[in-house]
Amino acid sequence: MSRIAYVNGRYVPHRAASVHIEDRGYQFADGVYEVVAVRGGRLIDELPHLERLDRSLGEMRIASPMARAPLRHALREVIRRNRVADGIVYLQITRGAAPRDHAFPKSTRPALVITAKRAVPKFAQMEKGVVVVTVPDIRWKRRDIKTVNLTANVLAKQQAVEAGAFDAWLVDDEGMISEGTASNAWIVSKAKELITHDPSHRILNGITRLAVRALAEKEGYRFVERAFTLKEAQGAAEAFITGTTAWVTPVIAIDGKKVAGGVPGPLTRALQTLYAAHADKAA
Ligand code: PMP
Repeated sequence: MSRIAYVNGRYVPHRAASVHIEDRGYQFADGVYEVVAVRGGRLIDELPHLERLDRSLGEMRIASPMARAPLRHALREVIRRNRVADGIVYLQITRGAAPRDHAFPKSTRPALVITAKRAVPKFAQMEKGVVVVTVPDIRWKRRDIKTVNLTANVLAKQQAVEAGAFDAWLVDDEGMISEGTASNAWIVSKAKELITHDPSHRILNGITRLAVRALAEKEGYRFVERAFTLKEAQGAAEAFITGTTAWVTPVIAIDGKKVAGGVPGPLTRALQTLYAAHADKAA
């Protein structure tokens, strides 16, 4: 079965799908994106993702190319045409194609691309946990906007892969861990508090982060939003990451030092169960 992509109002074969060479996403990373997980053919936390998309567009001063209802329809149509039961749907909006000039073009229409692909959640990885290494966070100061400029994330992830790790935890100029290259970083203190960075301009406020927060608070777990250091993380009772594709994945070592004996902790396990039920509710 050949894959189908949505490109500016048309459903086209994936291999033939293309945008203009002067698309501002291509030339300036002048665009935003969202990735939504699909479970049983349904989107997990679709509305929070679309709200974050609107926020990113607003911060970038890019007009939405499509109203909410037809956008939701197009997402479903791409999922349906690609027969995705479990997987992800990706959507990207750029300021559009225009002769190269830094200032906003006057009459260009924003460009919208949607793709979907099958992918089963990485249950084995969630079971076993992953190792991470720390890498300096060299990103810009508006990490809350989900722009397609992932240059620093790409370099950090590659550094992690070359070090034999699953991912990099990014360390800011003050020595605090901000987040992973495509996930939010969490630790559990010895007092059983769930700790993750506050949602400032310094991190992307993950939709999975928000879902896990809500699930944890409903269960009565203590949740604290603050930054933490590498040293605190290495000495934590537990560590894990959250993200659209990672769900809740235990972190069992950081920079070669085992966290809590190198096995996933009980609170992480409990949150995994809660999040899996939340994901299946979408299905
Ligand atoms: N931080 C960064 C830098 C990311 O790229 C992502 C993935 N989009 C996340 C956090 C997690 O966000 P979400 O839970 O919405 O996938």
